[in-house]
Amino acid sequence: MQPFAEAAAQVCPYCGEEVEVPVDPIGVASETYIEDCPVCCRPWTVQVSRGEEGFSVQLGRDDD
Ligand SMILES: [Zn+2]
Repeated sequence: MQPFAEAAAQVCPYCGEEVEVPVDPIGVASETYIEDCPVCCRPWTVQVSRGEEGFSVQLGRDDD
């Protein structure tokens, strides 16, 4: 089986560039992790929420 992954289009909270955040749609209901922006290399706080209708992603800044 192929691993099933999706990417969510988001805007980087640091540099404002539109970026694709790779997200595994299968997993725990809610998780937060750190990932670096591929454009400006600053660390996002990635919040993923998963429900019956799919998942949502929110990017935050570590220095707020
Ligand atoms: Zn960025």
